[in-house]
Amino acid sequence: MQDTYLRFPVRRIYCVGRNYNDHVVEMGGVPGREPPFFFQKPADAILLDGEFPYPTRSTNVHYEAELVVALQSGGKSISMEDASSHIYGYAVGIDMTRRDLQAEAKKLARPWETAKAFDHSAPISNIVPKSKTGVLEKAEMSLHVNGQLKQHSNISEMIWSVPEIIVELSQLFELHAGDLIFTGTPSGVGPVNIGDSLTAAVDNVGKLSLRVCKPS
Ligand code: MN
Repeated sequence: MQDTYLRFPVRRIYCVGRNYNDHVVEMGGVPGREPPFFFQKPADAILLDGEFPYPTRSTNVHYEAELVVALQSGGKSISMEDASSHIYGYAVGIDMTRRDLQAEAKKLARPWETAKAFDHSAPISNIVPKSKTGVLEKAEMSLHVNGQLKQHSNISEMIWSVPEIIVELSQLFELHAGDLIFTGTPSGVGPVNIGDSLTAAVDNVGKLSLRVCKPS
């Protein structure tokens, strides 16, 4: 966590698919407010600042810069009014994706685990507490590859807002302290190559820097 030696004990990592219309369109979908859908990454897929080992069995690995929400409490069937009170803080994450394996899984109607839940697939920055940022509704986000701007949006562009995501998720799973939620990516996703430097940032939250290295 930011400016401390404290560690946030991560329980589960939930991720939202298709949550920015410009990304829905670039992936060949139809924009709109279809109900959100979710997938998970294992908690030990987290990677802090540093080196991201290019995963094996893929030749098309994409970055997806995302706002990450960390929960301090949870429950079932949480109401809109209560949703934000469960937020501990925020971080910047990159939902690393084996795009080739995801495309194959979509085509064959198979699960996404190998595409989304592989080792080191959840790089995340330090968490900044909500007590410092307030409840975030607007914040610019960006992702640079080797200094070039690739993704640029605002978290206010989400199709489903953070409270709406918490409400919806809590009807499917009982949420708990320690859960993280990757809230979706805007347009501009693209491939990474060994040697690339990635920097993802969300205003008032922080920054995550990674270097893509050879498979470990
Ligand atoms: Mn994503």
